[in-house]
This record gives sequence, C-alpha cells and structure tokens, in this order.
Amino acid sequence: MKSTRVLIGLLTLALCMAMAFHATAQEKKFKTENIIFVMTDGLRWQEVFQGAEESLLPEAKSGIHPSRAAYWRDTPEERREILMPFTWKVMAKEGQIFGNQNKGSVSQVSNGYNFSYPGFSEVACGYGFRDVDSNNKIYNPHLNVFEFLNNMPAYKDKVGCFGAWELFPWILNRERSGMLVNAGYEPLDTGKSFPEYELLNRMKKETTHYWGGEPFDSITFETAYAYFKREQPRVLFLALGETDEWPHGGRYDLYLDAARQADNAVRYLWETAQSLDQYRDKTTLIFTTDHGRGYAPLEWKSHGEDVANSENTWMAFLGPDTEPLGEREKVERVTASQLAATMAAFLGEDFRAAAPEAGKPIDDVLGSTNN
Ligand SMILES: [Zn+2]
Repeated sequence: MKSTRVLIGLLTLALCMAMAFHATAQEKKFKTENIIFVMTDGLRWQEVFQGAEESLLPEAKSGIHPSRAAYWRDTPEERREILMPFTWKVMAKEGQIFGNQNKGSVSQVSNGYNFSYPGFSEVACGYGFRDVDSNNKIYNPHLNVFEFLNNMPAYKDKVGCFGAWELFPWILNRERSGMLVNAGYEPLDTGKSFPEYELLNRMKKETTHYWGGEPFDSITFETAYAYFKREQPRVLFLALGETDEWPHGGRYDLYLDAARQADNAVRYLWETAQSLDQYRDKTTLIFTTDHGRGYAPLEWKSHGEDVANSENTWMAFLGPDTEPLGEREKVERVTASQLAATMAAFLGEDFRAAAPEAGKPIDDVLGSTNN
C-alpha cells in the first residue's frame, strides 16, 4: 500500500516535470538569442545569383579589364561565388537564400515605390506603407521592429543600428525610439570611450564627403563592428550604401567591388560572432537589400516605380534555427514586409501583436518546429 502511494507520488512528480519542461520548450522555441541584420542598398538579385553581367563589364583600352579579371567566370555558379564568397560558401550552404527567379523563387519589396526610404521602412516596420513615399528627412510615423525590441527590458539599450545613409535617424525615428541609431558621418557616442571609436570619429571628420550624407561603407562597417565587439548588443543592424551609389554613378566595376566588400563585412561579423560566447551558436544572421534595379544595358543604374524589375530583391538567412535548405527553388514568394516579424519570431517575440499590419514570419527559415 505504502509503496503504491510512493509510486503514484513519483509518477505525479514525473508528469509535472514533463509538463513544466514542455511549457518551457513551447515558450522558447528557438536557439536564437541575438540577431545580426545586414542590408546593402540596391544590390540586384541578378548579381547575387549570377554574378557579374558580361554586357555591363567595362572594356579595357588594352588587355583585360581588372573588373573582368576579378569577376568574370564561365558559369553563374562560379561568378556568384567569386563575387560573394561568404554568401555562397557559407550562408547558401548552411542556411537559406531566396530570390533566384530563374529557379522559381521570388523575393520582393511590396511598397510599390522601389527606392530607399520606403524599402528600409518596409523591412524595419513590416509593411510597405503608402505614406512613406519620399527620401526626405521626415520622421517615420510607424513602429519598427528594432524599436519594438529596444522598448522591452531584455533588449533595452542592447539594440544598435548603423546606416551609411544619413536618413536612418528618420527612417528608424530616433527621436521617438531613443535607441542607438548612428548614420552618415555622425560620430559614434554611446557614452563609452574606446580608442577605435575615437579613431573612427576622427576619420569621419577627415574623410572627403564624396556623396554628401553617405560615407564609404568601410567607415560605417568599422563603426558598427567596433561597437559590436565592444558592447555586444543583442540586435545589430547594419545598412551599407555603396551598392546603390556606384550604379547611380554608372560605375559597374565599383558596384561589383562594393558587393564583394559587403559580403566580406557580413563574413567578418559572422566569424567574430562565432568567436564570442555571447553569440556562438545562438545568433541568426539575415542579409538582404531594400530594392532591386532595372535591367541592362541602361536601367541597371536606376530603380523606382517606373523601372521594371526594381521591386525584385533577395534575402539570406543563417543561424541555429534555420534548416540548411540552401538556395531555395520553387517556393512561395517572400517579401521584405515579412522580415520584421521573422526577426522578432527568432527571438520568441511577436511583432505583429504590436504592429498588426506587419507581414507574417517566413516559416521556412524558422525551423521544423514552426512548420
Ligand atoms: Zn536604396
């Protein structure tokens, strides 16, 4: 009799423990605790999936042009890998990449404008709002996912946003959000002082301002990278700009160089993350763009409502919760408006509870538990 009671007691205890474990497992479905979110402005899906486009490569006066030597190869697979080695050797093998329209995968912005402010806003706010319709310095009235997280105790002051373009304080509404948004040539001021912050802040003053409000990507990247290593945020947002500026200036050769550098920046961030306890095996990396561009021979320089193809984009994911399905083929269309809720979902948060218009998370990258 006594042993039966003990047995029932033990069984009840085991059942309670199993239920408690189950509840915990349901609350936190994913291993992701940190997000690294990188964007590079206006990089076409064509270059991402096929590498350099031959008709756009400049001709040398004699011999072979350095850009052709660097980026031209016989097959699209070789060309894209030489242009974006981290994306293709790591992200597209161990993670997933969407947007190869030749293989039945479409990634797009849905805002209808196909230029920068509306594109970055769609990504950050989860919706292509029609009232976000210019590149002017107007504070974005809509809630963005970085601000949504920064408003939570677990992420307070652990969100860092860095943009090459000087518009980010408006796009991410720094005035309202109060979070760290460092953009253009602004000095980095987190209230902490480190030698590399001081050096970068001096360089921002001393560098010639070639594009007005947008420095070369190396300056923005190194600022974000210094902050990332020193202050170890839970969410890092980095938006690079040269892949938009060089095409507008008609420089296909430097556009390719900028794509190569953006890929390298992502690699640096990822490899550094894997070397730090705070990030190793619990960080998801997302890499995407804010719009596409037109077709060769002329419209590749431009993008916008009236430029065909410029709504087409690409997006890549890598992390402990994303199955290694690689280059996706014959899948449902994905849009930039889904990225905010997807990013929050990796962290176990529901962005759509605060922003009901936001696109739904992309289930395919959120692991088998969500399918
Ligand atoms: Zn743009």
